[in-house]
Amino acid sequence: MQRFLQATTHISISSILPSATTSQFSISLPPLMMERAVLLRSISSCTSHACIRTFTRSSHRLSSNRHRLIPNIHRRSPPRRHLRLISTALPSRLHFNTRFSPVTPKAIATSSPQFSPDAIGAHDDVAEKLGFEKVSEQFIDECKSTAVLYKHKKTGCEVMSVSNDDENKVFGVVFRTPPKDSTGIPHILEHSVLCGSRKYPLKEPFVELLKGSLHTFLNAFTYPDRTCYPVASTNTKDFYNLVDVYLDAVFFPNCVEDIKTFQQEGWHYELNDPSEDITYKGVVFNEMKGVYSQPDNILGRTSQQAVFPDNAYGVDSGGDPQVIPKLTFEEFKDFHRKYYHPSNARIWFYGDDDTNERLRILSEYLDMFDESPARHESKIETQKLFSKPVRVVEKYPAAEGGDLKKNHMVCLNWLLSDKPLDLETELALGFLDHLLLGTPASPLRKILLESSLGDAIVGGGIEDELLQPQFSIGLKGVSEENIQKVETLVMETLANLASEGFNMEAVEASMNTIEFSLRENNTGSFPRGLALMLRSVGKWIYDMDPFEPLKYQEPLAALKARIEKEGSKAVFAPLIEKYILKNPHLVTIEMQPDPEKASQDEAVEKEILEKVKKSMTEEDLAELARMTHELKLKQETPDPPEALKSVPSLSLQDIPKKPIQIPIEVGDINGVKVLQHDLFTNDVLYTEIVFDMSSLNQELLPLVPLFCQSLLEMGTKDLDFVQLNQLIGRKTGGISVFPFTSSKRGSDAPISHIIVRGKAMSARTEDLFNLVNCILQDVQFADQKRFKQFVSQSKARMENRLRGSGHGIAAARMDAKLNSAGWISEQMGGVSYLEYLKDLEVKVEQDWNGISNSLEEIRKTLLSKNGCLVNLTSDGKNLKNSEKHVGKFLDLLPSISSPLSQPSWNARIPSVNEAIIIPTQVNYVGKAANVYETGYQLKGSAYVISKHISNTWLWDRVRVSGGAYGGFCDFDTHSGIFSFLSYRDPNLLKTLDIYDGTSDFLREMEMDDDTLTKAIIGTIGDVDSYQLPDAKGYSSLLRYLLGITEEERQIRREEILSTKLNDFKEFADAIEAIKDKGVVVAVASPDDVDAANKERSNFFQIKKAL
Ligand SMILES: [Zn+2]
Repeated sequence: MQRFLQATTHISISSILPSATTSQFSISLPPLMMERAVLLRSISSCTSHACIRTFTRSSHRLSSNRHRLIPNIHRRSPPRRHLRLISTALPSRLHFNTRFSPVTPKAIATSSPQFSPDAIGAHDDVAEKLGFEKVSEQFIDECKSTAVLYKHKKTGCEVMSVSNDDENKVFGVVFRTPPKDSTGIPHILEHSVLCGSRKYPLKEPFVELLKGSLHTFLNAFTYPDRTCYPVASTNTKDFYNLVDVYLDAVFFPNCVEDIKTFQQEGWHYELNDPSEDITYKGVVFNEMKGVYSQPDNILGRTSQQAVFPDNAYGVDSGGDPQVIPKLTFEEFKDFHRKYYHPSNARIWFYGDDDTNERLRILSEYLDMFDESPARHESKIETQKLFSKPVRVVEKYPAAEGGDLKKNHMVCLNWLLSDKPLDLETELALGFLDHLLLGTPASPLRKILLESSLGDAIVGGGIEDELLQPQFSIGLKGVSEENIQKVETLVMETLANLASEGFNMEAVEASMNTIEFSLRENNTGSFPRGLALMLRSVGKWIYDMDPFEPLKYQEPLAALKARIEKEGSKAVFAPLIEKYILKNPHLVTIEMQPDPEKASQDEAVEKEILEKVKKSMTEEDLAELARMTHELKLKQETPDPPEALKSVPSLSLQDIPKKPIQIPIEVGDINGVKVLQHDLFTNDVLYTEIVFDMSSLNQELLPLVPLFCQSLLEMGTKDLDFVQLNQLIGRKTGGISVFPFTSSKRGSDAPISHIIVRGKAMSARTEDLFNLVNCILQDVQFADQKRFKQFVSQSKARMENRLRGSGHGIAAARMDAKLNSAGWISEQMGGVSYLEYLKDLEVKVEQDWNGISNSLEEIRKTLLSKNGCLVNLTSDGKNLKNSEKHVGKFLDLLPSISSPLSQPSWNARIPSVNEAIIIPTQVNYVGKAANVYETGYQLKGSAYVISKHISNTWLWDRVRVSGGAYGGFCDFDTHSGIFSFLSYRDPNLLKTLDIYDGTSDFLREMEMDDDTLTKAIIGTIGDVDSYQLPDAKGYSSLLRYLLGITEEERQIRREEILSTKLNDFKEFADAIEAIKDKGVVVAVASPDDVDAANKERSNFFQIKKAL
């Protein structure tokens, strides 16, 4: 899904410059966090949260992450609810081994055995024998790695082999795949090559790997000009298995021989019966329909294509749903033959494995090919600069009856240069980007939002992922008459900044933020080696030096020295002048809401399909129905056991019997519980301070997210919010505040907290706690104007989520119908929250005092030593040092002795089937029930079973034959809620029927030992997922809050490992309850809901949300 995709768009040179998100989570509720809080209550949330922090500055800085200039990176599988994470789960290492931390002193001083001088000596020799020529070797101090660039002599394939002591090994193969049109060939091919290959002749080896490997990363991405296949694992045997399946898939896929994969993943006419209408089906087709239902995405695509009208970026590599059906199988095959060739490939290896083995595996594949001209043919042409600005007006599908006047979008986009820039200039531009837009206090962002001309920012700032860098900025939620004003404001603000420069505090804050982030090197749930790979490939793919993007220390130091010597104005003003103000290559995009567009598009599609049908003879129609049937049959026929066995897997013996443990010491400072995790963090101190929310008045709940944002963005009596933000940037690695809600097993009362998260270099621990104290106690809820902005931004963000992550909204809604923790979350992040925000927008004008008092009341209720808990993660020495600062901080907290009367939070939303209608071409369909209420008692096997249902039954029926981008299930073991969800789904009732068939699927299931073993290993892979130290400390905290003990984790692990076929059959009874008593929520198009209500007399209660 996009959220994760976005992640990758950012790993370029400017990504070494962190986003605001890395440093200051000034939006209290990063969208993903909110989503997870709402729909997952999952303990794993921390990792993904971290991922967002590191990679998607957009998610935070620009208030929504769907307005990027280059949003069309597609990945093969949509997001899941990552939920299965589990009490037993929560990865940690039994013995935390600092050898594996990428920047340990040991790693600096000596190299690991794999690349001792001897090994390297042998290495060159081996490389030569295997057909590789060493082009260059460098030690990269920034990542403590030895990197060698090889060229495969026979084909010219280039290989980067990076060795270090990181156990999280990464492999990736990247092809340059420039599209000629918007039929989506690169994207469909990216999906299709993973559907069976020469050595692995089954329907979807990719899914077998998802099911049964210990991968820490497994996916594929389509960029506007390249396609990228990365895998990662900490287990060497598993890693090489993954590598082999991927290599075989890209070079020898079955999809170029059998048209059925192309039909399934790309597009085909579906006709079940000659009397019915013909429809389009296809996974990518529907994925892209979803993308084209989101205004921010349409804006991003329109911008990119208008900025680059003359090269490969002028079309959509992902595929335009109106153009995809023009693609033929012949063109598809040709594209593979031409570009998926070693001569056009760049291959990356990273980690602590044997470097010789890497080359041996590769030579086996590469030697089968001769050189091809693909490398020259795939070259990306540069876009020449325009001599004068261009304006484009485009329509997007809007809801009927919404406030159309106020819903325009305007975005200014510059192409900065007619050729790639040097690293130093890019670095300076990245820094400039952070200064302009990086935090809520950054001037361009602040001035745009304070102008009241629009609700939220669009445009991704500096983008340097493609051949030539761009800069884009604008606003959405703009009235038609204000569009010109937005354009003028952007130009004037930039001109002012060029003439006046930035203040010293701002420059210092950006510098500290950048340096902190480099030192922390926190890639969240993304393997570090993958982040490096994407960064390196960002230049390598254009035939530039792959080493250079990895080495930022020198240019950064030089930039810093220049700023110190010449002043920031001398450095940045000429950049603004040259690249933006005096640059004629400016494309202004105006997006107009069109309530008719969605239905018009649908009508056009229908008309085309009717014509197609009319042009067919009876025989043609019968033949089409036969082919439809044949495709379905193929999709629904399980792979033969021999084929399944071809995908290599580990055995249960390879799996550790004990869960990974995270060190924890529970102590007490000044009467407050303090948890300490002694972990190597490269001298960073991470802390979470937890406050109990359970005595908060129920009607204040929806105000909590805005309360959190106000703490960080409102300012105190002495410091305005800009100064406060700069102070946080200068002294810390960032502070965030967000609510956390979950059910707790065995307890009726939900868990609800506010968590303040912060990090700093250990020497700055005192500053960190002082600042946390300052935001908690001194911030004044006085700025009505700013608060109004928060409301508009939150509303815009929620509307965006509704269109782009409808499955999350549906899940939250179902949870709110089923238990009180779900209800609380929905109040703070679901449809109810969106409704609340709409009212609040009015109320903030009429009764600001009332709101301000409510914010104060939330503070009074929460801010108490009673119920407070402090979590600390760092090494032993830093932990010891931090105690006095924690003590001082706690002394300053008020203690409320009499807890307020426990409010009755046992609220639910009425448990009726609901359809939330939005202007969309694809649906999100959910169904859920609480299986504990049926008497089911949690066993570890449930994790294996729910993963298996997702990866087999739902994948095959909802995605493969149903044509949805995704279908999965999710078991919240804390509440007992088991939910089914689909994502970008062309169906509605049909999908519900599939859900209802799950219990029969389980009862009738046959499974051999191999399949069962794979399912178990895959589950353990989830449970033991890789975590960086901050995520470990956070996971341990959540386990503590949820009452999950080590004993329980051990039991669950044993249960997982000993799962039997019979457990699946038993689980069918629990699932049966969902069929009979489950509640349904769909986020769907009005037409589909109408049709469903006609077919099953008023099945859905309708709710309009946009
Ligand atoms: Zn895709």
